[in-house]
Amino acid sequence: MRFKVKGGLRPRPKIGGDYPAPEKGPSLKPASRPSVLQEPVLVLNATFEPINVTAVRRALVLMLKGVAQAEELNSHDVHSATSAVSVPSVIRLLSYRHIPQQTRALSRKNILLRDRNTCQFCGRVFPASELTLDHVMPRSRGGHSSWENLVACCYHCNNRKGDRTPEEAGLHLVKRPRPFTLHTSRQLMRLIGRQDAKWRKYLFY
Ligand SMILES: [Zn+2]
Repeated sequence: MRFKVKGGLRPRPKIGGDYPAPEKGPSLKPASRPSVLQEPVLVLNATFEPINVTAVRRALVLMLKGVAQAEELNSHDVHSATSAVSVPSVIRLLSYRHIPQQTRALSRKNILLRDRNTCQFCGRVFPASELTLDHVMPRSRGGHSSWENLVACCYHCNNRKGDRTPEEAGLHLVKRPRPFTLHTSRQLMRLIGRQDAKWRKYLFY
């Protein structure tokens, strides 16, 4: 299972945020599989507190800049023009960054992430392209665009609901929509981390 983890927990310089979107950086070519640079890396604060997930490419840039160091390695190497670099599985920032308890930016991407690409009415999982955002209380009825009023919704349920409240349409929310907090991020990190034993000791505490 793959989740895009985007920004929000975003001190400067950026410590993640663009996973797994490609980004500019040193020209690093994977030694074996082409996907190595896109693999997830757990980012720890200087205090070993997990704060984000990024991609190998970004993690290597942070290490090259001296912002972070590897705490755990995965089994791959990445070759630059002149040298081979071990690929991290977990990195740690060398200086502590304050991570505000604020919620993430309200965006389609973050709402789909919070709702794990699950239609909040029928409970089925869809690709992002087959999901839309639904205003639980329709805008025409005074509903706001907020974390508490926007949910991931498949087109079928969206059509069925139309300009009505869930009750009027005979639909029920799978769960009450909440803001995307650090707690939500941790849950996502744990979901991703299940696939990597090296993450576990940092995530399950
Ligand atoms: Zn649905």
